[in-house]
Amino acid sequence: MAQQTRSYKFKAEVTQLLDILVHSLYTNREIFLRELISNASDALDKLRFEQTRGTEVTNPDLPLEINIELDEKNKILTLSDTGVGMTRDEIITNIGTIAKSGSGEFLKKLADDAKKKDVSNIIGQFGVGFYSVYMVAKEVVITTRSYLKDQPAIRWRSDGSGTFKITDLEEELPRGTRIEVHLKDDAEEFVQKHRIESTIKKHSNFINFPIKVNGEKVNTVQALWREPKAKISQEQYEEFYKFFTLDSEPPLDTIHVSIDAPVQFNSIMFIPKHTFDIFGVSKDEIGLDLYVQSVLIQHKNSDILPEYLGFLKGMVDSPDIPLNISRETLQENQVVIKIKNVLVKQILSHLQKMAEKEPDKYKEFWDAHSKVFKMGYTDYANHERIAELLRFNSSVHKDGSELTSFAEYVDRAKEDQKEIYFITGNSREALNTDPHLEIFKRKNIEVLYLYEPVDEFVMSGLSKYKDDYTLTAVEQADLSKIDKYENVETSEEPVEELTKSDETVFKKLLEKVQDILGDRVKEVRESKRLKDSPSCLVSPDGTMTSHMQKIMRIMQKDESVPQKIFEINKNHPLIRNLLAIYKTDPKEPFIVESIEQLYESALLLEGYLNDPHKLVNRMQTILQKSSEWHPNKK
Ligand code: ADP
Ligand code: MG
Repeated sequence: MAQQTRSYKFKAEVTQLLDILVHSLYTNREIFLRELISNASDALDKLRFEQTRGTEVTNPDLPLEINIELDEKNKILTLSDTGVGMTRDEIITNIGTIAKSGSGEFLKKLADDAKKKDVSNIIGQFGVGFYSVYMVAKEVVITTRSYLKDQPAIRWRSDGSGTFKITDLEEELPRGTRIEVHLKDDAEEFVQKHRIESTIKKHSNFINFPIKVNGEKVNTVQALWREPKAKISQEQYEEFYKFFTLDSEPPLDTIHVSIDAPVQFNSIMFIPKHTFDIFGVSKDEIGLDLYVQSVLIQHKNSDILPEYLGFLKGMVDSPDIPLNISRETLQENQVVIKIKNVLVKQILSHLQKMAEKEPDKYKEFWDAHSKVFKMGYTDYANHERIAELLRFNSSVHKDGSELTSFAEYVDRAKEDQKEIYFITGNSREALNTDPHLEIFKRKNIEVLYLYEPVDEFVMSGLSKYKDDYTLTAVEQADLSKIDKYENVETSEEPVEELTKSDETVFKKLLEKVQDILGDRVKEVRESKRLKDSPSCLVSPDGTMTSHMQKIMRIMQKDESVPQKIFEINKNHPLIRNLLAIYKTDPKEPFIVESIEQLYESALLLEGYLNDPHKLVNRMQTILQKSSEWHPNKK
């Protein structure tokens, strides 16, 4: 039978990617070697995993290693591994398409980075590492044979310009993959032994298999996490982190745990200085690499960490996990569950220590990862620890850069205050003028400022701090608990009290307001909370806060306006004027207009006003009238 060769086209996005890589000049081209070595190492990891669970493989006695041969005469670098290899179908799908979601965005970012001449970070992180070989290659020939029984060897070749050719080979080849890199004229440095060796030391020193260059071993194979902690230097951790994450910056912090009971395991975890979800592919990026006695069982296992600790990068190695476990059953494995529980406790107490001893570092952690970490409100078993780690903006701060904890709030609270008050809004500026806060300012009671949708879920999820303090939204506060406190002293003139008879008229006015608004509101009442605003809307007891309702309404595409309580400030000059008008003529249409305007303004503030037309028209009429009366109008 003659050897068959067929031509294929790369998928469109691969062609685009190759085009960017081939036609740009890079400062950091050596990373192609890191990518090829890490693919070889992945293939060896997979093979070792199959072997340990008892799968029968082709050529079982081949040593697990990576070999690099440098042919200076012909300018060819050849990298071979004895890993799982690829079948014909595998090579067509694995090298020829980009399977990951978000590849469009990735290509955009890559084109940008290419202009800055450094693609080294982004390429490995997105998992299209193989193609980086075309930064240095004018042609690549891959010869590969799968570890699966009775699979023929195949040869793949391409110059990276849009098509590749595949040939089925007839000869019996050993298992694994051999990649011949025919170097471009301007990339000939990559056949020099010292150049290759130093690149391996720099980027691939932690690879768990021997890497040989022209037959000589280059890397120091070591499982750092099995070394005693005291023997590991800061530099080693840092190097390991960079190897692991391809981050160019060092980590913010390192957590290294060695546990003997109830399960035995070692784990090194890092808190990066920033998040890694640049392409929104973060879901696949969550988790720790799982080893059993230095054999990699699974990359990024997401069962071993809860989602809210997903910002951590690192690995776990435990001899207690059964070696022949399938990836599917890991999730229910009791050992994995135990490791997870211990890890969570260790991580939370590490963070607690950081918060106490290194507040600046903790703030950096909070700024980078709090969005993810706040999801911890779903971890009921650890509520108390998590509550101590939360940070908030607060009314006591001068600006948004400071943060406070529940513990600090409680320290500052009034003696018998059993509530921790909070309010949600878009910004500090918006909250500073929120009518709901007026009474809190007047009584000098601290309020936590929340800005993100998840914050309300955190508050209702926790509901209490230390069992003693109820987390309460200001609009749902029981004002009798607040009213008893002294007012903050001011230089303002106290407002003149209403006379007894005016009080009665005011009650009538409230009834009139109720008539005007009808069932658009649940109730109309005199406000205890307002000072500078004439009116506001509040949520009836036992319902959700406005902010939460808004989130639900968006989720349910609900546009209706919920029934709320409309509160009126009888001491506000506008209301006093309306009262005077009402006393003269209760039927005066201006009263209706004003009340409608106040109600819609309150809706607008709360984010419920669907149609602003009426409000704007009314506003123009009112402005027109007041301009008629303007003293300077002749
Ligand atoms: P990633 O490694 O992130 O998946 P790459 O572009 O580096 O992305 O590689 C694409 C795929 O090609 C790999 O996932 C793997 O399936 C396959 N592959 C690459 N190199 C090898 C190799 N040496 N042995 C076996 N399979 C390989
Ligand atoms: Mg790769």
